[in-house]
Amino acid sequence: MTVRLRPVLESLPAYVPGRSNPGSIKLASNENPYGPLPHVLERMAEAAAGSNRYPDTNSTELVYALADKYGVEPGRVALGCGSVSLCQQLVLASAGAGDEVLFAWRSFEAYPIVTLIGGATPVQVPLRAQAHDLAAMAEAITDRTRLIFVCNPNNPTGTVVSGSALTEFLDRVPPEILVVLDEAYREFVTDDTVVDGLSLLARYPNLIVLRTFSKAYGLAGMRVGYGIAADPAVITAVRQTQTPFTVTSVAQAAALASLEEVAEKQLAERVAELVAERGRVLKELRGLGYQVPESQANFVWLPDGAAADGAVDALAFAAGCEQRGLLVRAFAGSGVRITVSTAAENDRLIDAARQLRG
Ligand code: PMP
Repeated sequence: MTVRLRPVLESLPAYVPGRSNPGSIKLASNENPYGPLPHVLERMAEAAAGSNRYPDTNSTELVYALADKYGVEPGRVALGCGSVSLCQQLVLASAGAGDEVLFAWRSFEAYPIVTLIGGATPVQVPLRAQAHDLAAMAEAITDRTRLIFVCNPNNPTGTVVSGSALTEFLDRVPPEILVVLDEAYREFVTDDTVVDGLSLLARYPNLIVLRTFSKAYGLAGMRVGYGIAADPAVITAVRQTQTPFTVTSVAQAAALASLEEVAEKQLAERVAELVAERGRVLKELRGLGYQVPESQANFVWLPDGAAADGAVDALAFAAGCEQRGLLVRAFAGSGVRITVSTAAENDRLIDAARQLRG
């Protein structure tokens, strides 16, 4: 006799984290290469000293700091144990057996997993030219659709949807369907045709925007992300579906310290450097004959396909990188995602790519 578990677990795709390997350069998880700022570390240490107490389960101070930063009411802001946890909570809050959750594919790996865990059915609309096909997504809406993820920029391709394409799409989504605009990489966007999702909240009551401290803020290990919703009822639903005390006091302190003006300034400088490096990596790789779609995130994407077109064999490319001490993220038959890092680490990547091309 074995324990009876939910049958859905047997077919659940595993969330495959980017691997680490001591001594190797990790370009596999879209992390920030820089550690927390010194004063952020200090505040984390102070918070750690109070770890005998439970954290504030609603992250109230952080909610107010974010509400203040973005000029929204605190009732429209919720924190989560990373924005991935918010993705899961939003599925649990809106969809169940027989309901559909719609998203582009390939996109963030967690979407199908959190959908299936919620008991709902994933509906995946293929990318077109490595980007969201919003027209096809609008066509794929049914009366069972309860939630739509739009990942902008898209993980793993780095591509974006323009503001006009996005609003055209949102105009077609029935107002009772929750739209989750996942902007985990928003801080790296420099293309001004891309709209800041927060500016759309006034127009679309069914919209929630997700952001995270994991990428631009360099706090992936702390696990803290946030959602800002048009409708406070969505935030209430997020709170109802959260595990109590999910954002630790150290994570809350780290995020709060990162929102201070002095920290924001230093972090913005790091982001600007990574954006400049993104441009350089992209140019160098294209110069070597690789096909690389324009990226607005902190990673670049090499599509899998016929080498003659400048595409790669994802697994072979990743194996070649690994032999050269670099861990990148391969999706078999789909492509390779490479995180943009420091200039020195990017040089190593470019060298490896040169050798693998030759
Ligand atoms: N959304 C997207 C598109 C991501 O790529 C990631 C991280 N890989 C997340 C959400 C989740 O980030 P976190 O849980 O660390 O906030």
